Amino acid sequence: MAVPEGGDALVVLEDVDKHFGTLHVLQSIDLTIHRGEVVVVIGPSGSGKSTLCRAINRLETIDSGTITIDGKPLPAEGKELAALRADVGMVFQSFNLFAHKTVLGNVTLGQVKVRKTDRKKAEERARSLLERVGVANQADKYPAQLSGGQQQRVAIARALAMEPKVMLFDEPTSALDPEMINEVLEVMQQLARDGMTMVVVTHEMGFARSAANRVVFMADGRIVESATPDEFFGNPRSERAKDFLSKIL
Ligand code: ADP
Ligand code: MG
Repeated sequence: MAVPEGGDALVVLEDVDKHFGTLHVLQSIDLTIHRGEVVVVIGPSGSGKSTLCRAINRLETIDSGTITIDGKPLPAEGKELAALRADVGMVFQSFNLFAHKTVLGNVTLGQVKVRKTDRKKAEERARSLLERVGVANQADKYPAQLSGGQQQRVAIARALAMEPKVMLFDEPTSALDPEMINEVLEVMQQLARDGMTMVVVTHEMGFARSAANRVVFMADGRIVESATPDEFFGNPRSERAKDFLSKIL
């Protein structure tokens, strides 16, 4: 897919640095994600991909540099931070639904608490989103009663219920049994086609090729390459990327 034309900058990272102790996990990261763009982030384990995602919705602080969402710097705390977390939907590798809430409850809760949506409206929207991700008939079950693929689709619905400006996916299919990977990727493909701005950390190269506008390759806390999928997979420029691709393709 071509990068959407005229897309304006939605998420902007400028010269972002982050250490864990002496470990320099994010090194001078510059990254702009435009509205409607799908950016797939790939790279070896430990290269800083999760930290990058977590920094974007302030689950991690950064040492220096700036991150803005829709022109605004990330808020440090309070109501503003809760609103930011709603604007930046996140789906993790581990299924982190609220275990003591039903599926419907999971997708309704944030709308009522953070977005202050009236409960009836919130439930209506929750049901329509559960329909969209193909789990409408599981609404009254608890997460533990669902398969991993179903739980991950509920997690996507829960994030979407907040009407996020951007969705971050951190290896959303890595913990799934193989037969459930596609059902989750298909929901993500559809979201991409619908124009959602997305950052997706994944090892699913088929998804990267078909859904990404841009592939960002990270290694050792740096962005080593940023290119279209055709450019990246057809003609990786760095030795690090060539080496990585030779191991996974
Ligand atoms: P990736 O997602 O690419 O595998 P991460 O962002 O999870 O990489 O981690 C980057 C590096 O930071 C790794 O070396 C990891 O061990 C380290 N790291 C991640 N989180 C923490 C933490 N909370 N405390 C200390 N080190 C961490
Ligand atoms: Mg990770």
